[in-house]
Amino acid sequence: MKTVNIAIDGPSGAGKSSISKAVAGDLGFIHVDTGAMYRAIGLFAIRNQCLEPEQIAEKIREVQVELKFIGGSQRVILCGEDVTDYIRSPEVSMSASKVSAVPEVRAHLLDLQKKIASENNIIMDGRDIGSVVLPHADLKIFLTASAEERASRRYLELKEKPDCPTYEEVLNDIRKRDDNDMHREIAPLKQAEDAVLVDSSKMGFNEVVEKITALIHEKLD
Ligand code: C5P
Repeated sequence: MKTVNIAIDGPSGAGKSSISKAVAGDLGFIHVDTGAMYRAIGLFAIRNQCLEPEQIAEKIREVQVELKFIGGSQRVILCGEDVTDYIRSPEVSMSASKVSAVPEVRAHLLDLQKKIASENNIIMDGRDIGSVVLPHADLKIFLTASAEERASRRYLELKEKPDCPTYEEVLNDIRKRDDNDMHREIAPLKQAEDAVLVDSSKMGFNEVVEKITALIHEKLD
């Protein structure tokens, strides 16, 4: 059976995951958040003190990453342990960004990502989905927003938590991750030639969900 594959790429904090999840829910598709897979490996690197590229490359064969979908929500399993609730800290974000530049790490996740897409109707979000993972996706979207807008959305989410970073720290973090993601040699973040650009800087959440759902219907109907 031919499955429907929608690719959504874009920089950190553009809202890819929450938007993909909402759109996938409406369509009855599975939402695959590939960033969470890199985050699980980032967590492994912190726990096992192998943050240098050669160290993580050497250990990557031991790193078993699986995804489970429970009630439409993705859970990430790292070597048998559900780590979904431990992968959102700024420390893991930075570690994920580092390990994701290592070719062995990307190769390790690629087959799993392709397999999930071949077996399910999915919306898969990440950085290289339209360009590398699913070059023949039914629809490719590049979802972005200005770095300042992404930082203020992220800051609002973090504001009430203990040890909240300042807005400037959040913005610096976003800029650093953008720089890592756009300038790495392998699978850098870039808009695929045939991707539709959606700039959400001046759009509300529901507006973006509606826009993307409409683009998908246009393509599939
Ligand atoms: O999307 P999210 O911020 O959760 O991703 C965490 C990190 O994983 C990103 O900073 C990026 O470096 C990396 N990533 C990637 N390729 C993907 C998804 C995420 O390199 N397809």
